[in-house]
Amino acid sequence: MEKFIVSARKYRPQTFDTVVGQEHITTTLRNAIKTGHLAHAFLFCGPRGVGKTTCARIFAKTINCQNQTSEGEACDSCASCTSFNEGTSMNIHELDAASNNSVDDIRALVEQVRFAPQAGKYKVYIIDEVHMLSSAAFNAFLKTLEEPPSYAKFILATTEKHKILPTILSRCQIFDFKRITLQDTVNHLAGIASKEGVNAEETGLQLIAQKSEGCMRDALSILDKIVSFTSGELTYNNTLDHLNILDADYYFKLMDCMLDQDLAGALLLFDDINKKGFEGDSVLNGFAEFGRNLLICKDSRVASLLEVVESFRKRYTDYAQKVDTGYLVSMLNVLNESEAAFRSARNKRLHVELALVKLCYLKQALHLSADAAALGKKKVTDNARVVAFKAIPAIVLEKKGTPAATNTSIESAKLVIEEPTAERVEALAPKVVEAPAPPVAQVGAAAPKSFKGKMNLDAIRNQAAAKAGVVNTDHPLTMEKLTEGWAAFIKVLKHEKNPAWNPFEMAQIIIKEEHVFEAVANDNIAYRFLEAERAKATEFLKTFIGNRQLQMLLTLSETTEAPDLSALPLSSREQFNKLVEQYPLVKELRDRLRLELDY
Ligand SMILES: [Zn+2]
Repeated sequence: MEKFIVSARKYRPQTFDTVVGQEHITTTLRNAIKTGHLAHAFLFCGPRGVGKTTCARIFAKTINCQNQTSEGEACDSCASCTSFNEGTSMNIHELDAASNNSVDDIRALVEQVRFAPQAGKYKVYIIDEVHMLSSAAFNAFLKTLEEPPSYAKFILATTEKHKILPTILSRCQIFDFKRITLQDTVNHLAGIASKEGVNAEETGLQLIAQKSEGCMRDALSILDKIVSFTSGELTYNNTLDHLNILDADYYFKLMDCMLDQDLAGALLLFDDINKKGFEGDSVLNGFAEFGRNLLICKDSRVASLLEVVESFRKRYTDYAQKVDTGYLVSMLNVLNESEAAFRSARNKRLHVELALVKLCYLKQALHLSADAAALGKKKVTDNARVVAFKAIPAIVLEKKGTPAATNTSIESAKLVIEEPTAERVEALAPKVVEAPAPPVAQVGAAAPKSFKGKMNLDAIRNQAAAKAGVVNTDHPLTMEKLTEGWAAFIKVLKHEKNPAWNPFEMAQIIIKEEHVFEAVANDNIAYRFLEAERAKATEFLKTFIGNRQLQMLLTLSETTEAPDLSALPLSSREQFNKLVEQYPLVKELRDRLRLELDY
């Protein structure tokens, strides 16, 4: 039986020409070799399995070749090339920095560099996974890397460029390797398959290329595995089986269930998939990828990002037209959340089923939320108008009315003082002055216009009373009357739909002096409400109780006040600061003796 060599080794490219998918690098290297402008250090970065080490080896072989071609390739037949191909050349040294990352390893390498090559022109040192070198090893290497002998060339390879020290980066010529594209991988696999006499379906190869995500080494080992299992027949179906990929067909069916809101169908289908041995998270992940593909198909500009088996492309594009973009975005959201929480879920199956339930009713939910949004908008504007309409005229009237009501002679004021009836309360409420109730109207008519504010209203009122020489005939302020008037005012506020009614109801009222009472608010917010309606309330109560000298004080309930910070005990540092404030010499003492404070 023929000795088996894995494809990745057997078909490792031997010339720049055969490297897959890295033309931008091979062309540059070939040109450098042709013109003889060779840097002394190179850094090859890029994902794993895309040809970094391969390119490094080809480079080493080519610059040592005794008769290079005019394209800057190795001849592949001279003594040097043969020794390279057989792996016996003394001019190539490979160091795996992942396992040899100490200073001693690097010192040994630097030691070797001092000796010129026995045969050939160049000695090439390839250091793989160079980011694994310890920083001491990096530093031991710097000098050699900067000024190596003319015959030494260094090629550093890494998958993690960001871990390389800037001092190394600045001494190297940097080459960035790309992921190998789907099509390049498929073509390469197809070439190998035909050389190996394997019957390979194109769709199967596309699946392999998809799974390997741009890593040629992975793609080749998958190919090897499937070929050896299937004795040379590679089809779409056996590739699916071996790669443990769920056929996209299932996702199309699942999506059908979602769009029809067919929960039963979806759950049965999931059960079917589960029985085939696919775990919940791979279903969630696969379905999310399916959703992503549909989303991409929506726009022809990004359709090139669609990485599916070629024969499915049209099916995806057609299907995408049936699905709403909003639905797809929400669906990806649900799946993403579900996948993230999958690990911590106890009942994995239920977890996935729950996601399917959500997706089934997602369409309905989207409609509902769209309706609710429209409804909500309407409500908000309605409310806003109500508030503005009611609040503003009340305040304006109040301002006009107050001086009028207060500046009246005592006689007219007396007219107002009557036992208020329930009807009057209603009439008085929103429009104190305009109300058709005869006594109030009279008061308004008597108003002169010279008084601007109500700050000194009480003084004016007293003056007026003194001038008239009338003895105060105000009704006395009693708790009973006050409570009654307070309740009546709350009723007015409620009638106006003014939110202040609640703070008014919660507030505690206390009679302080003959004509003065106090309202105690429970908290800051209630205080503000009371404050805003204070003038109106006072005016209302004056009329209600029949006491023109009535005053309303406002306080905040003591229990809600902020605690007195000054009463707190001082920390050691604060004690020290206090001490320094009083006796500045203490600080000097500390500074002179360099004392540390024991806080
Ligand atoms: Zn050669």
